Amino acid sequence: MSQMIITCAITGAETTREQQPALPLTPQEIANSTYEAYLAGASLVHLHVRDAAGKPTQDIKVFQEAMSLIRKKCDIVIEVTTGGAVGMSPEERLQPIQLEPEMASLDCGTVNFGDEYIVNTLPIMREFANAMNAKRVRPTLECFDLGHIYASLQLIKEGLLKPPYHYGFVMNVPGGVPYTPENLTLFTNRMPAGSFHTVMGVGRASLPAVYGAVATNGFIRVGFEDNVYFSKGVLAKSNAELVERAVRISREAGLNIAKPSDVRQLFQLRGA
Ligand code: ZN
Repeated sequence: MSQMIITCAITGAETTREQQPALPLTPQEIANSTYEAYLAGASLVHLHVRDAAGKPTQDIKVFQEAMSLIRKKCDIVIEVTTGGAVGMSPEERLQPIQLEPEMASLDCGTVNFGDEYIVNTLPIMREFANAMNAKRVRPTLECFDLGHIYASLQLIKEGLLKPPYHYGFVMNVPGGVPYTPENLTLFTNRMPAGSFHTVMGVGRASLPAVYGAVATNGFIRVGFEDNVYFSKGVLAKSNAELVERAVRISREAGLNIAKPSDVRQLFQLRGA
């Protein structure tokens, strides 16, 4: 049977307690929420952290604390963000790579974020890819628009990315590509042969994107970074509740839920 990898993006940079009262903010809350998501079936956690005021930070000490608390509880694969938050410098965003996580996100192009934007030029992408290669960190190639896939192909041509490639299609960011089955199919068709992909639908696209992932032999990402609702107007109780539904949908589709060891093997992570 085919495997379904479920990533949980538990905190993100932009989601607030006002939007989602159960949003984990402190390293301990982040570790607890990650562990619940792991027990529900997530094998990968996409990690952002917050400072004491609850604002997004790339502070290496806060990442270190969250990561060590998570590792005390379970062996879930940890993917740190290098997208950071709107307004952060590339150097600031890259900091958690020093902690040698098994995976990290690598944004493959400049993108609108509502009225704001995050800058990722090719030189920035090269710098990030080199930093990840030096620590043997597997990047998730996050693409918010079709041109981002072509930017990743440029890095592959330059020898800066090594297979197996794992793409993350971030769909429905305001100002980026909307989620539709047609757009997703177009994206998957542009990946190099043998690539893996995870589908991330933001806001109301989150649940349709889960089905899109199943339909395209891709992997699922859910969690409060992308979406705080369980259904229209009903907040999710926890990150785990969103993972549980993704597990049910995957099993109905005849898929096995991957364990962290399966992810390490499939993505050829350093710890495999
Ligand atoms: Zn993120």
